[in-house]
Amino acid sequence: MDLVTVHELKQALEKEHDMLVAELKEIARPDPKMRGNWIAKYPKFDREEYGSHSSLETEADEVEEYEERLEAEHSLESRLLSITHALHRIRGNTYGMCLNCKKEIPLERMRANPAAEFCMEHSPKN
Ligand SMILES: [Zn+2]
Repeated sequence: MDLVTVHELKQALEKEHDMLVAELKEIARPDPKMRGNWIAKYPKFDREEYGSHSSLETEADEVEEYEERLEAEHSLESRLLSITHALHRIRGNTYGMCLNCKKEIPLERMRANPAAEFCMEHSPKN
């Protein structure tokens, strides 16, 4: 892969990285004990706003919101992790190579997903 393309994809990765971190910060906080891990924040709804709700109902809403956050946090976190890994590979000059067979991943595939880790043949999704 030529340097111009690497640079271009790196910028796309960095942009997505920042976007994911911003989204994660809304619903989670970074785990101080484990780098790259995030902990979903438990929502605290304002009891005043839920005036007609009983506190039990408000609590149930919080639990529901929390479960949604857990799910969102999980998928944002794993995407963020694959972006971080891709940025590491750029620094280590192994970017764009299949993690399985070490062959170069086709450029169109890299453009579609700059964090791609496998060639078509070794993609776990296939
Ligand atoms: Zn491969």
